[in-house]
Amino acid sequence: MAANGFTHTIDGKAETSDRFFDVINPATAEPFAKAPDASRAQLDRAVASARNAYPAWRAKSFAERRDAIVKFAHGLAARVDEIGAVLTKEQGKPLGQAKWEIGTSVHELEAMCNMEVKPELIRNDGKHKIELVYHPLGVVGAITPWNFPIILACHKIAHGLYAGNTMVLKPSPYTPLATLLMGEIARDTLPPGVLNTVSGGNDLGHWMTEHPGIDRISFTGSVATGKKVMASASGTLKRVTLELGGNDPAIVLDDANVEQIAPQLFFGAFLNAGQICMAVKRVYAPESLYEPLVAGLTKLAQAHRVGDGMDADTEMGPLQNKMQFDKVMGVIEDTKKHKGVRITTGGHQLNRPGYFIAPTIVADAEDDMRLVKEEQFGPVLPILKYRDVEDAVRRANDTRFGLCASVWTTNIARGEKIARQIEAGTVWVNHHVGSEADMPFGGFKESGLGREIGMLGLESYMEPQVIKVPLA
Ligand code: NAD
Repeated sequence: MAANGFTHTIDGKAETSDRFFDVINPATAEPFAKAPDASRAQLDRAVASARNAYPAWRAKSFAERRDAIVKFAHGLAARVDEIGAVLTKEQGKPLGQAKWEIGTSVHELEAMCNMEVKPELIRNDGKHKIELVYHPLGVVGAITPWNFPIILACHKIAHGLYAGNTMVLKPSPYTPLATLLMGEIARDTLPPGVLNTVSGGNDLGHWMTEHPGIDRISFTGSVATGKKVMASASGTLKRVTLELGGNDPAIVLDDANVEQIAPQLFFGAFLNAGQICMAVKRVYAPESLYEPLVAGLTKLAQAHRVGDGMDADTEMGPLQNKMQFDKVMGVIEDTKKHKGVRITTGGHQLNRPGYFIAPTIVADAEDDMRLVKEEQFGPVLPILKYRDVEDAVRRANDTRFGLCASVWTTNIARGEKIARQIEAGTVWVNHHVGSEADMPFGGFKESGLGREIGMLGLESYMEPQVIKVPLA
């Protein structure tokens, strides 16, 4: 019997396991459901099923695969209310944001399949024709984190399957349930074995990265785990993309309009309680705008409604799990040890069950604080003062991370010039947070390896091949 009815999807069918693990609601810190814990034999069967499904799936045209993926997307859209509620309970985000995540996933599944990899003519000199053609890779192992389980999985599903591969998808053990429900949709909309979903612990992820039947790993998670994934995948020289953590700087230029940008900066830093790889994690502000910006962000933080994601007026939920809650509280405690620093609001947990931390603004933050050097991944934002823009750019780049960044200004040309000096995979002017179907996403430095989304993302699920033929 499946505990609570949540099941793996293996070879187009529901499967349960002998063992289960608890799924905790972070708004109460209590378990509310159980997920099946896949055994190694179950993973082997999921991989074997994906391998069996591969020849027929890769033989389909891009248009045929697109039609099937769109059917899957529509199946997801039809269950948005049900899956949204499960996502809120397991992840903590407000219900409206959970439904938004699912709705955006539906859109991205369709939009990412609007592009096509075509053969490229390298040379035709009358004697030879040389072409570059692309093949799918085989079976993809997709591993996702707990902050955006659905949209991150759908990015992998969209291009992984559209390119002609089949897949085994493993969600985080903290948030397995909504992904298992997506597996049910795959049973009704995709050929058996094309998309398998299996839940389990970190071991299951490790088994996937070393599995000889998996050809490509698409991993999204922390830098530390990303390094383990790369090491483990090297045993079989799997193709790997790593979408890892970030410590995104936002540089406010002295011509910026503080009133206009404060709400956007706040949104970029506090959405999903700050648990976004590409959240604003450090703000650099010039002396002339410093105090108005601190005051503006403080006011927004104080007005932000924190609570259970199932309550209609909640704007920010809890931290997703105890480990992350303890980490962020540790960063706050470290911040308090720095003498000159001002915590203008927040800096404490909420007096209620669950992993809630008050939105926290830290003024006069210093470069050597943990809050500035590490990825806090929580609702705590440091604001740093700079004297000239060169100084701000140098400090923004002085990190092992390089995921995203932003520049805020009323002079777009000036903003664009500075954007190009920042070492990050995506730099926005007057914007922060978001992905678009045609924009490749990934990190510089330790924020990742390779790109997903856009044409580069689609090509990353394929192997290029040179074909040279004589013409005479
Ligand atoms: P995590 O690295 O702890 O876990 C991610 C996934 O890896 C989970 O499914 C986990 O079970 C699995 N895993 C754990 N150990 C493994 C191993 N040895 N081998 C294979 N898989 C293993 O990350 P998390 O705490 O779930 O997520 C938060 C992190 O993810 C943050 O650092 C955040 O910035 C990052 N993230 C990055 C992106 C991006 O696109 N760059 C997006 C979202 C989150």
